[in-house]
Amino acid sequence: MEALIENASLVITASAVLAYVMSLLWELACPVLPADAGDGSTRWAGNFGLFFINHAVPYLVLPLVAVFAAWWADALGLGLLPALGAPFWLALITAWVALDLMGWLLHRAMHRLPALWRVHQVHHSDLRFDAALAFRFHPGEAALVAVTSSFVVVTLGLPVEAVLASSLVGALHNAFVHANASLGRRTETVVRWLLVTPDLHRVHHSAELADGMHNYGIVFSFWDRLFRTWRTPVGSGPHEFGITTERDPARLSLPRLLLMPFRRAG
Ligand SMILES: [Zn+2]
Repeated sequence: MEALIENASLVITASAVLAYVMSLLWELACPVLPADAGDGSTRWAGNFGLFFINHAVPYLVLPLVAVFAAWWADALGLGLLPALGAPFWLALITAWVALDLMGWLLHRAMHRLPALWRVHQVHHSDLRFDAALAFRFHPGEAALVAVTSSFVVVTLGLPVEAVLASSLVGALHNAFVHANASLGRRTETVVRWLLVTPDLHRVHHSAELADGMHNYGIVFSFWDRLFRTWRTPVGSGPHEFGITTERDPARLSLPRLLLMPFRRAG
């Protein structure tokens, strides 16, 4: 465990890449929608460029902020759970649920508040839905996740191991949920009671604005049922993705994606 924590950044990034390769194989074997031609190189440069910027350049910093926050809180004896003497198993479950709820709240806020939407729209601007979309996050969004997660970690006093485990599951699930593939009706119906599936998340990425205001779940799907933002996918789900304000693939290059939050709307 010590070695895992010491190399946490590498482990999280390697997990994200591994999960991407697995999702890629899955969607190559049984794609839901046919692969599109035309915007390939620009899109790949955009998505993988953002992944590189988010993980490879400051990857020693951003994905690890929450883990370091846990270390710091532990060293100072901060947080609710240590004060209550909570056992590790309870801290582990609390970390998963609390960090996921924080993710849901932040995700909803990013769709509701114009200033935050400017950052999150980079993720939604992809005109396609497949595993490569899992890498398309603006560094500003990565920073927002790091800051809000750290707040939860310190307030609750979550243990380092639990935060790391939650980050790993998040990295694996992120690729899975963006796969251009489907679990199949029977498995899908069972799994979606607990977890966000590609079918559920595809609805959230629909070009249709009303769809995008649903299914904010990150890992657990029950928050959307609880907060009444759940939308059940119909058939194979939406076929059109992206945002209404940016439909030209040529305008979605890596530099433009990085500058997108700072451009004037309209
Ligand atoms: Zn969203």
